[in-house]
Amino acid sequence: MEFPEKVTINEMVLRDGLQLEKKLLSVEEKKILFSSLQEAGVKSFELGSFVHPKLVPQMANSGELFEKIAREDMDLIGLVPNLKGAERAKEFGVDRINFVFSASDTHNMQNVQKTTAESIEELKKINEFCERNEMVLTVTIATSFGCPFEGDISKKRILATIEQLVGLTIGDITLADTTGMANPKQVYELLKEVKNSFPEQTFNLHFHNTRGMGLANILAGLQAGVTGFDTALGGLGGCPFAPGATGNVCTEDVVHMLHSMGIQTDIRLEGLLKASALLENMIGHQNSSYLLKAGPYNRKYPVPVSN
Ligand code: ZN
Repeated sequence: MEFPEKVTINEMVLRDGLQLEKKLLSVEEKKILFSSLQEAGVKSFELGSFVHPKLVPQMANSGELFEKIAREDMDLIGLVPNLKGAERAKEFGVDRINFVFSASDTHNMQNVQKTTAESIEELKKINEFCERNEMVLTVTIATSFGCPFEGDISKKRILATIEQLVGLTIGDITLADTTGMANPKQVYELLKEVKNSFPEQTFNLHFHNTRGMGLANILAGLQAGVTGFDTALGGLGGCPFAPGATGNVCTEDVVHMLHSMGIQTDIRLEGLLKASALLENMIGHQNSSYLLKAGPYNRKYPVPVSN
């Protein structure tokens, strides 16, 4: 098995992670959570989204949060569903935005009331807007491994979707498994093919652990040569517009797996566990981190955790 030496973790808890939570966190609380993750060495964050506050009230204070956080040495990303979102993001000084659209028309209609083709037209406008305003644009293609409404999404469809992005000034492209439908074989085969077809392009992965296959899918992504993954502290998260959606693959569980395998992340696990405990206090319920319950495996002194 061949693995990369180093992996970049993009922390999603403040966006994807919080958007299904009943409790709305204040800007102050989000800032505390951010600082705790920053202390643990996390450098890349999707910090919030610029969607209609009525649709996703958990994200209504995203702009204010961006204004209150120093950007130095950090990648702070704002999710936008359309040009209007990009314009709002700019008003708050955001300089990196991630445009999300879905490879499945039905999911895209539920999410942003547009077909996939209409969203790609919107992306072209956002691309011009970002070029004019010197903003970095990245793209996430949701439901890349399956759609809760349409079922399987073919490899051919994903390749044809990516083909339409060629020529735009976009940074990384993230393929997202929005509702945890991916399996490791599918991840390996799709990513191998996508990377071979677009060798100049960097591809990242975004998994939800809906059916317990998150870590296995990350392993398959690593073997296909992917080195960037979206994860969320405590395994929080889910799409509000997809039935049965649950949490992202959990940051501390992923980092623990990577470190056990000798793969670097520049993130300190103890710091992540502190942040994860803090998160539980803030949201008022247990999160789904395995590591927070069990603790890291200490090779010298393995101690059973349950009694
Ligand atoms: Zn997600």
